[in-house]
Amino acid sequence: MDFSGKAVVVTGGGRGIGRALALAFARCGADVAVAVSRDLAAAEAVAEEIAKQGRRSLARRADVSQWQAAHQLIEEATAAFGKIDVLVNNAGTNRDSLLLRMNEEDWDAVLDVNLKGTFHCTQAALRGMVRQRSGRIINITSILGLTGNPGQANYCASKAGIIGFTRAVAREVGSRGITVNAVAPGYIHTHMTAGLSEAQVAEILRRIPLGRLGESEDVCGAVLFLASDAAAYITGQVLIVDGGMTA
Ligand code: NDP
Repeated sequence: MDFSGKAVVVTGGGRGIGRALALAFARCGADVAVAVSRDLAAAEAVAEEIAKQGRRSLARRADVSQWQAAHQLIEEATAAFGKIDVLVNNAGTNRDSLLLRMNEEDWDAVLDVNLKGTFHCTQAALRGMVRQRSGRIINITSILGLTGNPGQANYCASKAGIIGFTRAVAREVGSRGITVNAVAPGYIHTHMTAGLSEAQVAEILRRIPLGRLGESEDVCGAVLFLASDAAAYITGQVLIVDGGMTA
């Protein structure tokens, strides 16, 4: 896929799936901005790798749960690249506990980053996309937003919310040449899943027809496809990348 001359923003691009996405877009010719909320050094390392490939890059500390920070991120990326063609709302977090023990802070923290952060960045990026009458927004949800999972009510609610948000915004902006889709990964080897016990991994593997957890790179094909010209007539959809787990 060719993204030469395209400008891409990946939130949560410092590690894991976001990092793989940022590098994949750059390999395909795009200029890429990556944002994290804390580990700026990680974002800068990704930006450096992108620059080594001869692409423009930008690393920013921007907590997407904050309206001001998200809007500033989009402003700075637009200033650096002249436009934004693709926004990938990938920043995400989890604070797992059974519902009866879940405190309000854990609920709010997860909803604020995963769902509100997606709202903030989408709203900010849409202004330019509406003006240029083109754009691609890809929201990273999760199969857990479709199936639910005990101990993750906040996370599942945020990811289900992203799916509703994706469908609503797709309907709102379709007439402006903008597509909005979601990608729902299954279990991917990253920092987020590093805390799973051996027993949990064994139980998960039992339910995955392809017999392995995914790697961050496994998510890239779906996201790049939805950002590409090949997906010009696809909007408001959820593309599942889970090794067949929900089949
Ligand atoms: P990681 O925890 O490995 O990476 C998350 C990235 O997001 C980090 O770079 C982190 O950097 C950044 N981030 C976290 N909070 C914020 C914030 N408020 N503002 C900006 N950046 C932030 O996670 P994954 O790569 O595993 O997950 C990426 C996305 O994929 C998430 O949305 C996750 O829910 C989703 N997903 C993951 C699955 C998996 O199995 N791993 C399965 C399904 C979906 P910093 O801490 O410095 O802010």
